[in-house]
Amino acid sequence: MREPVVGIDLGTSTSAVATVENGKPRLLTSRAGRSLTPSLVGFTPDGKRVIGEEARLLAISRPADVAAATKRFIGRRWSPKLVHEARTLVPYPVVEGPNGEVRAKIAGRVLPLTQISAMVLGELKLDAEAHFGRPVHKCVITVPANFDDNQRAATKQAAEIAGLRVLRIVNEPTAAAVAYGLTSKFEGKALVFDLGGGTFDVSILEVESGVFQVQATGGDPVLGGEDFDAAVVQWLLEQLPLAQREVAAHDTISLQRLRVAAEQAKRDLSQSDEAYVTATGIGDHEPGGTLMDLDVRLSRAEFERQVEPLVVRSLDVTRQMMEEASSSQKDIQIILLVGGMTRVPLIRKRVAELFGKQPVVGVNPDEVVALGAAVHASEIVAQHGETLLIDVASHSLGVGVYGGGVRKVVRKNTAIPAVAREVFLPSAGGQNKARIVIYQGESDQAEENVKLGEVLLSDLRVKYRADTPLEVTFELSSEGTVSVRCMDLTSGLAEALRITQRTELSADEVTVLRAEQAAYHADKADPETRELAEFETLLEQGDTLRRALEAGARRSDDEKERAATVKLVDDLRSLVHIGRTAAQAKNRLQMSDVAVRLGTLVGEATAGRAPSSAAQNAGEVA
Ligand code: AMP
Repeated sequence: MREPVVGIDLGTSTSAVATVENGKPRLLTSRAGRSLTPSLVGFTPDGKRVIGEEARLLAISRPADVAAATKRFIGRRWSPKLVHEARTLVPYPVVEGPNGEVRAKIAGRVLPLTQISAMVLGELKLDAEAHFGRPVHKCVITVPANFDDNQRAATKQAAEIAGLRVLRIVNEPTAAAVAYGLTSKFEGKALVFDLGGGTFDVSILEVESGVFQVQATGGDPVLGGEDFDAAVVQWLLEQLPLAQREVAAHDTISLQRLRVAAEQAKRDLSQSDEAYVTATGIGDHEPGGTLMDLDVRLSRAEFERQVEPLVVRSLDVTRQMMEEASSSQKDIQIILLVGGMTRVPLIRKRVAELFGKQPVVGVNPDEVVALGAAVHASEIVAQHGETLLIDVASHSLGVGVYGGGVRKVVRKNTAIPAVAREVFLPSAGGQNKARIVIYQGESDQAEENVKLGEVLLSDLRVKYRADTPLEVTFELSSEGTVSVRCMDLTSGLAEALRITQRTELSADEVTVLRAEQAAYHADKADPETRELAEFETLLEQGDTLRRALEAGARRSDDEKERAATVKLVDDLRSLVHIGRTAAQAKNRLQMSDVAVRLGTLVGEATAGRAPSSAAQNAGEVA
């Protein structure tokens, strides 16, 4: 039986894990029986780590002890601007880590965001292992199409800490299209409209002969379900008597209770025309303050009036992205809806009106990304010929020019891999050096872009600037790495710069966090999975010993002993095989018995002694 492989949608507000079984993708339920896991990590006052639903409950009473929406800041550089952004988006302070990365301060600890993501991934790994009854290592993880190299690298690092091997990072819209089977049945342009809990992403995908290309991406990083909830909270506050309204609007506990009630009402209104909203203990929670209960009816029509500006915003962003991509509504053959918020009927209606056609809705919008990731993961493992996923440059790249401007050489959304060249002239004649500064970003002003590095060309020996053409070549690999080569075309002298991905955490820190996570995992894994993982390790060691014996690296005087080792390895292998498919008690007992005997042989061999009389002149066993 092949090792299990999963697809993971590591979302801003919720995450999901899926696999392919009997040729069909399916979402795996958590050990608590839920299909979606809130991407939340918290610590209780007694220091217990809680993840997902448990963390969501903790956040109601102790919001500062729970890390939420870490995906917003993972892989980004700490800066005062980011701190300001975080203040409006998350309830915990963010601080700068030793590598300039972002860390969250929650429940009196400072944790790298990469580690928090690793904890969420670790939870999904445990859920998947509980489903399979055996260890899970391989996965495909999805990220937003506009994630840059550092954000992708940080996501990979989180997986590494969680003990997962990433077969591939896939763009979320691409995963959605894969889940809809656009690989085989479809040629043309698809628009993926993804409105989640905190972010809005919209992308155009071009599919041709099973090749996927993200042609353009756009979005609004601060538009999502939470804004719809906030609009409903405002309306709920307006239903309170004036005096109560003013205190409740500044009371953290009341606001949190209203948010929970508003979110539920929003969900109810996707199903019915009206929702009954109840919230208890609203008002002033300071000593001596008064509290009241809220009990109101919210109609779908009223809800739609309240959220109209947010829906308009999402459509404006969509139009703008289409304009940037020089695409018209007519060019779009199919519209895919992603994200829990696209269940809201008004959004479906307005998207349909904008494109003059109904979006497809066959797959649950909050599951579609994980399902697509699972399909892709299983394709990679089965080596069916991996679906070709062509990506685009997430940002423009250019060269700083005289006067503080930037000339773009590679435009945003250029398909990668790509090579692009431009010729520049030194800013003044008679210079013997030219400094070529490389920028990433969309602004024409250098200072509004991110400086990636610089190349210094020296020994320029020409009097007039027009005599010294300098060619700058950008090369973008399919992995997203950028190389820049600058050549003085008159002399042929060249200098190159490879812009490497910055990793979030040092290798040493990753090792420590990985060990910490492994210990947590061993503690939480169900005993059968843990035992099976131990048997699998033993099997590998048994195989090594067996190969050594068979190759004569370990010479055995006693053929019977050698045959016994081979038999024990074979027995354990078939028992582990049965154990993976059915956890039968009898099989487990037999497995333990064989494992103990094989363990003794392996133990003796690795301790440098031959297993009894066998392999007397043994060499090393790895
Ligand atoms: P996602 O990030 O894709 O999981 O989306 C989560 C957002 O979708 C949250 O704001 C949820 O409140 C919202 N959501 C989930 N299900 C529904 C539903 N049935 N109706 C309306 N909104 C929903």
